Amino acid sequence: MLYKWDIVGHENQLDQIEREIKEDNLSHAYLFSGTKQSGKFSIAKVLSMILQCPNNFCHTCKDCESIKSGSHPDTILMEDDGVSIKIDDVRELVRKTNLTSQGKYRIVVIENIERMPTEAQNSFLKTLEEPSGKTIFLLTTSQLDQVLLTIQSRVRHYHFSTVDDNILADYLQSTFGQRAEMTEVVTMAQGRPGLAISLMKDSEAFSYQKGLYHQIETFLKKNDLSQKFSFVEGIEKDAEKIELFLDAFTRYLRKLIFDFTHQKDHPLKKRFSLKAIVNLFDVLEKTRYFIKRNVNKRLALENLLIQTEKQK
Ligand SMILES: [Zn+2]
Repeated sequence: MLYKWDIVGHENQLDQIEREIKEDNLSHAYLFSGTKQSGKFSIAKVLSMILQCPNNFCHTCKDCESIKSGSHPDTILMEDDGVSIKIDDVRELVRKTNLTSQGKYRIVVIENIERMPTEAQNSFLKTLEEPSGKTIFLLTTSQLDQVLLTIQSRVRHYHFSTVDDNILADYLQSTFGQRAEMTEVVTMAQGRPGLAISLMKDSEAFSYQKGLYHQIETFLKKNDLSQKFSFVEGIEKDAEKIELFLDAFTRYLRKLIFDFTHQKDHPLKKRFSLKAIVNLFDVLEKTRYFIKRNVNKRLALENLLIQTEKQK
């Protein structure tokens, strides 16, 4: 590769993007879709540095440094802060992008564009329809089905899936050295470099995830509704904890489905058929959908855990 991206995996996509830069064939807007924490936002940030750096992406100049820290005057980074993006935010953004820029480009990076409700997306669409010379939009989403098709049709689309475990393990080994928790982190991260890196850096987050995995395993191993319901009571008011739980559950079940099809004597096969696990996965996705739409969280979570009581 031409540039030192320091991104885990996704080599084909990065190669293709480098080709676009080399051939001076950049689009005025990109959409990076794919799995949560697969590296989309980091890629958008590095791409901004590559485009803005006057020294062929040196990593050390004022432009590179200030993009890294989020203070570059011509590179607006809108990180996902868990809040939806309103029409007024979009208008403010458009106003900013119309100011004359000092740098080579004016770059706007928006993490998780699905945070814009439909009417804000419609308003944003107008900006995408009238590209202004030096402005480049780098948008990311982990919920492509929530991005208007009209937006999708006006951007160049790259998809970033999960990264192979061995690529992830190699990266962690070379970045953090040999550490006892590495194998567990790779298992928990399920191909998401962003998650793996944050678990390596933050021992508290690692212990919390480990606890969640243990909890989910216990839920699947035992019929104990009162324990399950009291767990729900403990997290029902904390949106972040609910999301961590649902995400961990999703990854746990993905791995379980894989293990069920590859291991003859998996201990949980005594309790569940593969079909039951696939069905549970379905219920889990529905739970996530309902919770996003503000259905009673407690009921939705309890209903999910009731499904873990079922025997074959
Ligand atoms: Zn530089």
